[in-house]
Amino acid sequence: MSDAPRATPATDPRAKLQDRILTEYPRLGPDDRFSFACHPGVSCFNRCCRDVNIFLSPYDVLRLKRRLGITSGEFLDRYTLLPVQKDLRTPAVVLRMNDDAEKTCALLTEKGCGVYPDRPWPCRMYPLGLAAQKDTPDGWRGERFYFLQRDEECKGHEESRTWTVRDFLDDQGMDAYDEWGEAFKELTLHQFFEDGGILSPQKLHMFFTACYDLDRFRTFVFESTLLQRFEVDEDFVDEMRCDDEALLRFAFLWLRYSLFGEPTMRPRAEVLEAFQGSLDKRALFSQARGTPQGEATP
Ligand code: SF4
Ligand code: SF4
Repeated sequence: MSDAPRATPATDPRAKLQDRILTEYPRLGPDDRFSFACHPGVSCFNRCCRDVNIFLSPYDVLRLKRRLGITSGEFLDRYTLLPVQKDLRTPAVVLRMNDDAEKTCALLTEKGCGVYPDRPWPCRMYPLGLAAQKDTPDGWRGERFYFLQRDEECKGHEESRTWTVRDFLDDQGMDAYDEWGEAFKELTLHQFFEDGGILSPQKLHMFFTACYDLDRFRTFVFESTLLQRFEVDEDFVDEMRCDDEALLRFAFLWLRYSLFGEPTMRPRAEVLEAFQGSLDKRALFSQARGTPQGEATP
């Protein structure tokens, strides 16, 4: 028996927490209320910006690098770690903590979060958490619910300000994040992975570049033959030159086409003809040499 033991709530603290959230935590809907406020006057101000694991989505990276006025490559180098774990099917990007005693977030300043208007999804969501019932027929896209997280040191829960879930999410500007999150799931929860597919190192690199290193991906789009090979609306091409959101939308479409064979891109007719021509030539060449069609040719 070579199979590694599966993580279960009994053996894995993370699985245990997930299990508790699904079975014990009160589920909140859009109109449920809770009390919370976070501001410089709370005694715990900034204490939660230390020693935390914050996974960044492609949209988080886009917003953060733009807020800081640096390229995606610079942002990834300076502010992130790329954990390598055997069970990760797609690349992950984690916000770097400083190498000091308290492991403060590299984006924290004396006045608070240095990127507040563009802080990442998990920082916006707290104290709400979002969970989904995994064992629904469509997996993690099944029933979703919010729940309240209560970190012991967080005094925000003692404040008198009350919110409905809906108002809190609006106030935090979650709509755009949710929209991009859903689009990203089209990649990370793709049937290819559900069927046990594994990306080659080369494809993983492409995934990482297109999703997270957008400025490098832009160079690839505009300096390779990509746009000559596919039909892409000219206005959209112009948009991609200077608009990161347009480029990220294109990146997701490109990955769905190139990694999973979805018809999200249309090769130009002349490229298809040339491709067909080369197939025909291969067939002719094979016949001339007396090798069956489809067999490898030199
Ligand atoms: S990004 Fe901002 S809010 Fe989030 S942990 Fe860092 S300093 Fe805190
Ligand atoms: S611990 Fe809670 S109240 Fe204190 S800064 Fe963090 S989120 Fe705000």
